[in-house]
Amino acid sequence: MARYTGPDCKLCRREGMKLFLKGERCLTKKCAIERRPYPPGQNGQGRRRKPSEYALQLREKQKVRRIYGVLENQFRGIFAEAERRPGMTGENLLQLLETRFDNVVYRCGYASSRDQARQLVTHGHFKVNGRKLNVPSAQLRPGDEITLAEGSARTEFFQAGAAFGSQRAKTPEWLQVDDKTMTARVMAVPQRSDVDAMVTEQLIVEHYSR
Ligand code: SF4
Repeated sequence: MARYTGPDCKLCRREGMKLFLKGERCLTKKCAIERRPYPPGQNGQGRRRKPSEYALQLREKQKVRRIYGVLENQFRGIFAEAERRPGMTGENLLQLLETRFDNVVYRCGYASSRDQARQLVTHGHFKVNGRKLNVPSAQLRPGDEITLAEGSARTEFFQAGAAFGSQRAKTPEWLQVDDKTMTARVMAVPQRSDVDAMVTEQLIVEHYSR
C-alpha cells in the first residue's frame, strides 16, 4: 500500500498552513509553521507572485490530498466516484474522504493523526461489524460499528485510553463513541458543515474539469 513517507511538516509549509499531520506536536511551538512560516526550498523566502487560477486549484487539491494522506492516483479514483454519485461532486468528494476507515478512526479520537490511525488500522487493531478490517481506504456507512480487536484493548496504547480525551472532544456529530466499551458507531453520512471549513472543494472540481 503506497503512501507518502517524506517529511510531513514540509507539506504544511508548502500549503502555507497547518494541516495537523503530526498529532500533538502540531499544537506546540515546535510546529514548523510557527517557526518557519514560508515554503520550503531555496526560494522559499523570495518574493511571491500572485498565484494563477490554475495554481490556486492545484494547491487546493494538493492540500486536501495531504490532509487525508491520499496519493494522486487514489485521489483521482475517489474524485471519479464522487462525480458518479448524485449531488454536488465537491461535497461527495469530502464525504468519501471523511468516511474512509482511517479517517473515522482518527475522528473517533483513537489516534492523534490520520497517519497514526492508518497504522493502527493496518496493524489490525479494529473490527467493523464484528469482523477484522485492516484496509485504511475502506468506506464506512451509517450503522457500521467499530470495536477493538481481541487483545488490542489490553495493549498499553489503548489502555492509556484517557489520553484520547482531548482528541475525542472534537468527535463530530455523525459519529458516536462509547468510552466504556471502546465502541464507535457511524450514525449518519457526514454533511458539509461537519468537514473543516478550510477546504474550498469547488476549486478541486474546477481543477479536474480543466
Ligand atoms: Fe504541520 Fe503539524 Fe508539522 Fe505543524 S507540526 S508543520 S501542523 S505537521
